[in-house]
Amino acid sequence: MLIEVVLPLAMRHTLTYRVPSHLAGEARPGCLVRVPLGRKHAVGCILRETPHAEKSLKIKEIDAVLRPLLSQKELKLLEWAAAYYLTPIGEVLRHLAPPDLFETRAKARETKARKKVPHAASFDTPTLPSLNAEQEAALRTVLEGLARPVRPFLLHGITGSGKTEVYLRAAQSVLETGGQVLVLVPEIGLTPQVVGRFRALGKNPGDVAVSHSGLTRSQRYEVWKGAREGRHRIVVATRSGVFLPMPRLRLIVVDEEHDSSYKQEERFCYHARDLALWRAAHENLLAILGSATPSLEALQRCAQGKMTCLRLAARPLGAKLPEVRIVDLRREKDRHPVFSSELLQELEAALKRKEQALLFVNRRGYAPFVMCPECGRVPECGRCDISLTFHKNPARLECHYCESSRPYDPVCPACGKATLSLRGFGTEKVASEVQRLFPGARVARMDRDTAGAAGGLDILEKMKRREIDVLVGTQMITKGHDYPHLTLAGILDADVGLHLPDFRAAERTYQILTQVAGRAGRAERPGTVLIQTYQPQHESLIAAVSYDGLEFCRTELGHRREAGYPPFLRLVEIRLSGSNAGTVRKTSEALALRAGRALKTDESLLGPAPRPVETVRGKSRWRVLVKTAQYARLQPKLAAILDDFAENDLPSTVKMLVNVDPVDMM
Ligand code: ADP
Ligand code: ZN
Repeated sequence: MLIEVVLPLAMRHTLTYRVPSHLAGEARPGCLVRVPLGRKHAVGCILRETPHAEKSLKIKEIDAVLRPLLSQKELKLLEWAAAYYLTPIGEVLRHLAPPDLFETRAKARETKARKKVPHAASFDTPTLPSLNAEQEAALRTVLEGLARPVRPFLLHGITGSGKTEVYLRAAQSVLETGGQVLVLVPEIGLTPQVVGRFRALGKNPGDVAVSHSGLTRSQRYEVWKGAREGRHRIVVATRSGVFLPMPRLRLIVVDEEHDSSYKQEERFCYHARDLALWRAAHENLLAILGSATPSLEALQRCAQGKMTCLRLAARPLGAKLPEVRIVDLRREKDRHPVFSSELLQELEAALKRKEQALLFVNRRGYAPFVMCPECGRVPECGRCDISLTFHKNPARLECHYCESSRPYDPVCPACGKATLSLRGFGTEKVASEVQRLFPGARVARMDRDTAGAAGGLDILEKMKRREIDVLVGTQMITKGHDYPHLTLAGILDADVGLHLPDFRAAERTYQILTQVAGRAGRAERPGTVLIQTYQPQHESLIAAVSYDGLEFCRTELGHRREAGYPPFLRLVEIRLSGSNAGTVRKTSEALALRAGRALKTDESLLGPAPRPVETVRGKSRWRVLVKTAQYARLQPKLAAILDDFAENDLPSTVKMLVNVDPVDMM
């Protein structure tokens, strides 16, 4: 008997082994086996039995069958994901296996990685409010879907419309019939309220588990085991949770499905939302994707009838959407460098009323760059093509790509004649300006500098207890927070994200603006949102103001169709990087030439070209993009080309990473 074994290595192929007759009864697909590998031994997983090869004499025998690891369903996911994402099957296996199983080397580092684990505020009372008519109708449809999953749902509800309440009822119904529920959230530390509400559904300790990257390996192993044994009835997890084995899984919720953190863009570039949809289609379970600002991919799936859209158009209890105003920064000449006078007035008024305000700036640090007024020099990171950001406390220049930093010396490094001047503003400056202008206000800042895995939670708790009046932050503050006393949201520079060389720039700007706006005025008190911009006529801004997301999405879908971008075509990005820029360029050209020859007319190739920020950490980064209308047809062909290229033409100094359906285009 011969078997194909997947080893947890960056190998594109399985290896064939012989099973001695005394082990034949045990060696079933999905079992872990110990096998000889070169002069050593390795542990792998049986994928399937395979027919006798003619010259099978050289085939080695397995040493032992250890224990069952993966079910048939999981083996299917393993094979499909490896093929679809053009990723070594061994890499996918590592994602499906329990943490620790294959990772002996990393063990020594565990103590270092151990972080304080944020615990859910119980991350409230389990009594759920009674649903309004819209929620009831959505829930009814969801319950029918649970009974007979045909198509996944997109729950498209405005911010604060009570989507989570619908997920909770659906989860409750699954629990009542003995099933399991997987809830995916973008970032655990930033969504303590959502986690807390699911936790409250558990009746016994262990019913609800939370899995995220802040856990130690042994904690993650416990979650994996509890999920597999069915002890955990609900698991709330970040993207890697989509691989959890759950034998009685009936429902996967993907909250904030548009969030880009569901996409992994290293080693194995999967999209957790898309894997959730695959599991739903192949494991007879229901998937609900939810968002106030759905991705165009999700909306297009609805338009094609592959997914059913459920709308929640109002906030329960009649809370009104905040009034949104665009502030045209071109009009006001002598204003404060950060705030328009309109925003200052609103801020002052909110503080007087003892209400809370949120100020969104999508850059951490004090000044995004510094410049010599004498010679014009802008200090850059030596290893990345990017200018250095000034941080005030402690005074340093930091590279936001490689995270290296150096103490700040105000004298220009180039001419030595003048003192560098600080340009632009980031969260640190905004917070200190608010404090200077409103000395009595309690100001906090939330960004990667102030919020570790647990730090963010402290800030959110303080916000909830109203110990903070003004919260200044990056994208971190846009997630699903719900603060009844927050009535003002200010977006300081709405256009920064619009001009990135990324076809999703407008979509993302619209999503961020809408999400920030949605934090204000969620309860009885009305909210106000001010959007400061130099481009008041941009359609992303108009959409955020008018809450006409669908209109914006229709227009944007039109642009995508014309330009030939997702969701109408699929992209496969092949990233090449290495220390020698010339070698990386030549390798990229060779790959593009090879791939280009094999393409059909409805497939096209973009590049090779350097990525927008070419050099990071001293490595030159290039890419080749393939566009296709029929990925299923292209995939095997591309797999063969890439395998062959990796084996025969890829210099050992160049790293190649295949990224199917890329999200980070920078
Ligand atoms: P979303 O997930 O759409 O952002 P949530 O489910 O968090 O919205 O609901 C927003 C707020 O409204 C929460 O505080 C929630 O408890 C409350 N809420 C939701 N539905 C109802 C309802 N039917 N009756 C009363 N309060 C509700
Ligand atoms: Zn750098």
